Amino acid sequence: QYLSGNEIRTLFLDFYAQRGHQILPSASLVPEDPTVLLTIAGMLPFKPIFLGQRTPEFKRAATSQKCIRTNDIENVGRTKRHQTFFEMLGNFSFGDYFKEQAIAWGWEISTTVFKLPPERLVVSVYEEDDEAYAIWRDKIGVPEKRIKRMGADDNFWNSGPTGPCGPCSEIYYDFHPERGDDNIDLEDDTRFIEFYNLVFMQYNRDAEGNLTPLANKNIDTGMGLERMAQILQSVPNNYETDLIFPIIKKAAEIAGIDYHKSDEKIQVSLKIIGDHTRAVVNMIADEIRAANVGRGYVLRRLIRRLVRHGRLIGIQGEFTTQVAEVAISQAEDAYPNLRQRENNIKAELQREESRFLQTLERGEKLLEEIIAKVKQQGKTQISGEDAFTLFDTYGFPLELTQEIAEENNFTVDVAGFDAEMEKQRQRAREAHETIDLTVQGSLDKLAEHIHATEFLGYTEPTATAKVE
Ligand code: ATP
Ligand code: MG
Ligand code: MG
Ligand code: MG
Repeated sequence: QYLSGNEIRTLFLDFYAQRGHQILPSASLVPEDPTVLLTIAGMLPFKPIFLGQRTPEFKRAATSQKCIRTNDIENVGRTKRHQTFFEMLGNFSFGDYFKEQAIAWGWEISTTVFKLPPERLVVSVYEEDDEAYAIWRDKIGVPEKRIKRMGADDNFWNSGPTGPCGPCSEIYYDFHPERGDDNIDLEDDTRFIEFYNLVFMQYNRDAEGNLTPLANKNIDTGMGLERMAQILQSVPNNYETDLIFPIIKKAAEIAGIDYHKSDEKIQVSLKIIGDHTRAVVNMIADEIRAANVGRGYVLRRLIRRLVRHGRLIGIQGEFTTQVAEVAISQAEDAYPNLRQRENNIKAELQREESRFLQTLERGEKLLEEIIAKVKQQGKTQISGEDAFTLFDTYGFPLELTQEIAEENNFTVDVAGFDAEMEKQRQRAREAHETIDLTVQGSLDKLAEHIHATEFLGYTEPTATAKVE
């Protein structure tokens, strides 16, 4: 049964509305929660409720939440199932229904609304969660060979070292049931895809690590919209669904190429364009501006990767507003603020793109020279000094230099780069003795700290060289 992405979203929300859930709009990608940079899951807007800090107006809610996961950036285009931007469909219970009901509805929507054949589903449970195991086996009737016990890494959820936590149970789709039920390996992504995660928040963890049952048990779930679309549209990956493919098609058209006839490297670039376009359009719509720290830096880095992959597929001039237009028209029915903010989105993209194209051209030329020079010396490593010059003078994030280096089977001396960076900071400290006490200054520092520990490097130190 083919269903469009928009139909899947509506069917999910209708199903839970009929079962007493309040349907709420997606929260912003900019979370209220100051401990995370971007909204990474459907539960995030409800975290204060789960932590007991806020009393909910409803006992049950369901949403389709826009999410960004920068930790998946390296997976983009390389796995079939990860983007940085995706929508998470979720149903939530705040001290209301619990494990048995959540499992029963999770199964019901999968097999009746989305009509997935039960014999194509496999479920995972936390290894110590005998209760969930028994529900799947006895109440739902899943054969034991298709219920897999998994460790805490995959199947136990915490929001921090202490506080509410609990086991989870996930539903996977099996593309190859003919391979049989022996030796089921859920890590095998040629065969399985995880699409629905059910979290049973049932314990409180104290400072000593002891778990005590919560008086009010909660349910938090997440179903990846693009993954369900991949399954129901019978396409080989999330990127070829109607949610993303129109963007890819547009980029290919601008480059004068055909996705299906392109080699893998070009297809990866097209997928990155498909993902990053959606990410940046939605980030700007949620009022994030390109900057050198925090979420503004995430936006800037995504735009730069978008532009660079445009060049890798052969696009010469500016193109981001054209692919952004496709992303807006694809999603505007569900997210009207995209069209409302169309002008801001396009203006911000255009500004960043033209600025970056200028430095990119100069930097790429320099990097080519560096690579040629290194080759001549019979080496395969770009020095920390060269990488730093590219960074400092041309705004090339280290990751970009590494990416281009890798394409040439080169490495980059990261330790050497870090040493140069430290020298630069030292110089900045000596040169610049003012202290930034503005609210924005401390916010930047917080964000800087978060992105430094999460995944990103720095860019353009002139703007970040603030004295601490
Ligand atoms: P995976 O193991 O595939 O990385 P996950 O276990 O990290 O997924 P969860 O944190 O359980 O994912 O999120 C709930 C659901 O959101 C997943 O079951 C999946 O359908 C979807 N999802 C998670 N990460 C992504 C992503 N990067 N791109 C698209 N969908 C995602
Ligand atoms: Mg993951
Ligand atoms: Mg997983
Ligand atoms: Mg999961």
